[in-house]
Amino acid sequence: MGVGMIDAKAFQEKVREYVRGQMQIYPCKSNRASMLGGDCNRLIVYWRTRWQEAAMHSETLESIFREGRLHEDATITLLRESGFQIIEQQRPYQWKEFEITGHVDGKIVEPDRKIPFEIKGYASHTWAKLNSIADFLAENQPHYIRKAPVQLNLYLWMDNVEEGLFILKNKGTGELKFIPMPIDIDLGDRATKQAVRINEHIAAGTLPDRMSYDPEQCDECSFVHLCLPDVANRVAEIGGDELEKLLAVYARCKPFAAEYEAAHAAIKELVKEKPEVLTPLYRIVGKWIDKKGLEIKPSRYWQTRILPLGD
Ligand code: SF4
Repeated sequence: MGVGMIDAKAFQEKVREYVRGQMQIYPCKSNRASMLGGDCNRLIVYWRTRWQEAAMHSETLESIFREGRLHEDATITLLRESGFQIIEQQRPYQWKEFEITGHVDGKIVEPDRKIPFEIKGYASHTWAKLNSIADFLAENQPHYIRKAPVQLNLYLWMDNVEEGLFILKNKGTGELKFIPMPIDIDLGDRATKQAVRINEHIAAGTLPDRMSYDPEQCDECSFVHLCLPDVANRVAEIGGDELEKLLAVYARCKPFAAEYEAAHAAIKELVKEKPEVLTPLYRIVGKWIDKKGLEIKPSRYWQTRILPLGD
């Protein structure tokens, strides 16, 4: 066979077909710890009462699940190679009173205790920003990150253990980060109350109200066809070349936007009220600007411009 005769499309289709064959929907008979802490109780009630009608997730999501399992296995192997003793992988928990169940990823054995842990893999920019439990729970985090401490906290409650551990894997570099999590009574209380509300709806055969429409969650929801048929049946417009080019630029620049904003704000603070500052590459000039306006309240701010030397 000569050069250029490889049928790349057929190769790709072979893998996609295999991934499609792995896709399954499992029955859901309890409030899974990994579901609690989310924004939509209605979704959990759908899962528990009408799981057979869930829309099959996408191949992309199946690949993400698959990657998650691979990262988990690789992390456990690395921990063992590093000398940790790991036990009780996927140990099941059940809290009958609240109909909560779950499986912890494993426990690290120390001389005086066993520490339950959860492994989470994140893209590099997300991994870099998660350094404490408060970072996970911040309001601006996506729902799947905010839910993670609720899940681990429930395992701590069900195991009667005071402290657990997040092991975060940077999916870009393979680095690990360890974040301890002390048991959180308020968080546990909120999760069990959420479970009670869900159980009451299931017993009464009712559905909780919809949460306010969130494209990120509702458009990907397995029950959007039951809950919001108008959204499920919406026909999207096809974007043109210009939009595609702009989106490529947007995607390329987005990871750097937050870094840029933080550096810019820090520079402005460093040079505030200094009319001119020189560095080997830049001349930074500044002046007070007085704002006069009818609609905008008069105020003033220190304007900073960063000018490359040599222009
Ligand atoms: S479509 Fe939105 S509101 Fe409805 S169940 Fe799903 S996540 Fe909840």
